[in-house]
Amino acid sequence: MSESFDIRKWFKNPDELLVISGPCSVESREQLLKTAEGLSKIDQVKVLRGGIWKPRTRPEAFEGIGEKGLLWMGEAKERYGFLTMTEVAVPEHVELALKYGIDILWIGARTVVNPFSVQELADCLKGCDIPVFVKNPIAPDLKLWLGAIERLSGAGLACLGGIHRGFSAIEESRYRNAPVWDIPIELKRLCPDIQIITDVSHICGCRELLQEVAQEALNFGTIGFMIESHCNPEKALTDANQQITPESLKNALDKLVVRKKMVDKDEVILKNFRSEIDVIDDEILNLVAKRMNVSEQIGKFKKEHKVTVLQMDRWTKVLEKNINKGLNLGLDEETVKQIFEIIHKGSIKRQL
Ligand code: PEP
Ligand code: MN
Repeated sequence: MSESFDIRKWFKNPDELLVISGPCSVESREQLLKTAEGLSKIDQVKVLRGGIWKPRTRPEAFEGIGEKGLLWMGEAKERYGFLTMTEVAVPEHVELALKYGIDILWIGARTVVNPFSVQELADCLKGCDIPVFVKNPIAPDLKLWLGAIERLSGAGLACLGGIHRGFSAIEESRYRNAPVWDIPIELKRLCPDIQIITDVSHICGCRELLQEVAQEALNFGTIGFMIESHCNPEKALTDANQQITPESLKNALDKLVVRKKMVDKDEVILKNFRSEIDVIDDEILNLVAKRMNVSEQIGKFKKEHKVTVLQMDRWTKVLEKNINKGLNLGLDEETVKQIFEIIHKGSIKRQL
């Protein structure tokens, strides 16, 4: 662990991969210090996370060690030079975290869904310059995530980050919380000053997927990770399936292929590809406009002849034919389906 990591500088210029690790829940002094000792051997880990108050779905589950865990976080910080980070959900948590010298806060997915709670936290943080990361809300609702960030920014907080921890979904999936990469990307576009990292542990929900999802996140351009670690993961009181030992974390990080920022030579090569893409995009738009004009004429005909706008048989055939054509062209079914669903929706709108 490099002693001199400056999180405020990182927020201004995130030029190195930030790795935040530590237990889902702080369980005992021994567990925290043993985990921290293991993590101290991993250069990339600059921040020690530890859940002190746990938002549990069922009331009988372990709800966190509470205030005394903050003392142990301070001890780990002193021993190993980490910055420390914990989750806050109510103003009392903020007050205690600040009192015990926690360096960074995060707001959890279950809290972010409630604007009243977020506003209370923002009010209580007014005038503090502590960095705060905001996890995405449980549901894939960009506005809710954005709203939480706006409330904190309105309270004058300058170092604000986002954490993509995936979204719960109705459909069965291999993830605990499926990632939707477009959402953090759109958040970054809307708030360029927000630094967004990825919590692969809560996305995966199991150890087996971590490596693959961490690599995927890097390929999308993530600039940091939150990964839960525990000295004895199988015995963890919370999230036992997804925590890994510091040793496994080191192995996983060593195996990752970190993508570099673009240099001038890459830019030149990409420029040619991008010009080609721009020409194709123009063609696509012209064709869509042409198709919509035909739809409008069809709409007029249907109106005159009093036939319904939606002709289900025709739509089923159009979709089927184009999916097959797309497959022959090497496109994937879902992409073709989505493209035609959007075009069809636009076309129906034109005909009404
Ligand atoms: C956690 O980080 O342990 C946690 C409770 O996360 P989330 O809010 O993403 O569920
Ligand atoms: Mn957890």
